Amino acid sequence: MSRRVGVMGGTFDPIHHGHLVAASEVMASFSLDEVIFVPTGQQPFKAGRDVAPAEHRYLMAVIATASNPRFTVSRLEIERPGMSYTIDSLRALRESLGDVELFFITGADVLPQILNWKNAAELWSLAHFIGVTRPGHALQPVGLPEDGVSMLEVPAMAISSTDCRLRVAAGRPIWYLVPDGVVQYIGKHDLYRSSSHEEVSA
Ligand code: NAP
Repeated sequence: MSRRVGVMGGTFDPIHHGHLVAASEVMASFSLDEVIFVPTGQQPFKAGRDVAPAEHRYLMAVIATASNPRFTVSRLEIERPGMSYTIDSLRALRESLGDVELFFITGADVLPQILNWKNAAELWSLAHFIGVTRPGHALQPVGLPEDGVSMLEVPAMAISSTDCRLRVAAGRPIWYLVPDGVVQYIGKHDLYRSSSHEEVSA
């Protein structure tokens, strides 16, 4: 039987406990063998928003997932030049992982726009899509193939990256919303205090 691999796609700016609980819940509900977190590089629909440098977002994801042997973090999108398109990542993962079943996990808010993504029609043949919803949000987006998309409500997704960033900017705590190592990383690199971010030296 082929391995069932979750691909957790997101900006992770920063990664928080909601993302980790979501990955764990999806893993249990869909009997996944592992979950690969794929922080985005440059995104087609993110022009105009100040996103922390990819290397910081990648390293925070590594810190957050370090204790789980079935979670890993991929540099696939942050190292690929140009825009990050999910179709390119799914094709690359299929190529490198061989005979696997892929489950692309992301925020349910993102899925209604999926029909506008690059090569949208091919996406369904490469992976099953799982939208993680916050409590109280509508479940099934309209217009998407029912057998290609599943929704899963994750109460811990009441935590959001936006709220974490706003809290840091306002000098409020983010302890217990994100893993301790991520709190320390954000403090050490002075992330989210203002709109400008320091670069990470490679
Ligand atoms: P986003 O706008 O940063 O996030 C939208 C919502 O979804 C937010 O509420 C966010 O919560 C939540 N979310 C994002 N990733 C999540 C995850 N893995 N698990 C649970 N909730 C999640 O979304 P984005 O990061 O730009 O895009 C998400 C994924 O879709 C990425 O992998 C991206 O590459 C892909 N995408 C592809 C295309 C394309 O191929 N053309 C276009 C757009 C997006 P938090 O802010 O708390 O995370």
